[in-house]
Amino acid sequence: MKIKKKYRILCLILAVAVLGVGIGYVLSRGDWWFYLEQTFRIYSEPDLKIPLRDETSREWTLAELMQAEGVTVSKLLMLVNSSHPLPVGYEAELEEYGGALMHPLMIAPYIALKDAVYQRTGVKIYVSSDYRTREEQESILAESEDGVAAQIGCSEHEAGMALDVYAPYHAGMEFLKSEAGREVNRICCEYGYVIRYPHGKEDVTGIAYEPWHLRYVGAPHAKIMADSGLTLEEYIEYLTPETWYESGEYLILRTEKNTVSMPAEWETCSISPDNTGYTIITVKR
Ligand SMILES: [Zn+2]
Repeated sequence: MKIKKKYRILCLILAVAVLGVGIGYVLSRGDWWFYLEQTFRIYSEPDLKIPLRDETSREWTLAELMQAEGVTVSKLLMLVNSSHPLPVGYEAELEEYGGALMHPLMIAPYIALKDAVYQRTGVKIYVSSDYRTREEQESILAESEDGVAAQIGCSEHEAGMALDVYAPYHAGMEFLKSEAGREVNRICCEYGYVIRYPHGKEDVTGIAYEPWHLRYVGAPHAKIMADSGLTLEEYIEYLTPETWYESGEYLILRTEKNTVSMPAEWETCSISPDNTGYTIITVKR
């Protein structure tokens, strides 16, 4: 009888230990919890409204506007995917940072993002893939066994507007197992970056979830996209042409025309083609 009782207690201790280890393991899998958070996240409507008509606006031709003070011309809002390849003769605008080549306007926001992640997690993130030449993309495509690599001319890396990042010992999908990786995914939109191929939008982007691939689109677009759960494909589609939208201190217009009616004053203004035949004008008042 005594032996039976001891045996039962031993079994109970063993069961509790196994359960404890199991619970501990599940709790330690930050990536699983992050997946859950992503899957059940509730998105809001895009933070955009139609502004009241600005009576003091004046007409500008696009050419005239591009030359105006405080106006930046870039290609940072170009949609690049298998159905929207880079235009023939596209030349990426590049600058080097820490051995990586990227669009000059991406550098300061990337440094700010990297520093914020370091401050919050104590982990430094690094770039594993930056700008790729057409030839480099060609060899990546040839080496990819399952054909997941983008076709030539269809990669954001060739556009010089994407960065693949990693944390030490945590690259690829392992990135989410690091607190730094999860933090990058959570806060990159505050710095103008989006997770371009998000979880649950594989049918829209045609690309599997890539928590390491950051695409720069700038403010306020990155935040609007992240809060509303829209991919770049969906966001561009959402912007009804020839309609000014207001988002906080920004105004956004997607236009096909050569003349635009601009607000009377602005602090900064950026102009970018979207690669679908339209130009996106972003004004900070
Ligand atoms: Zn990438």
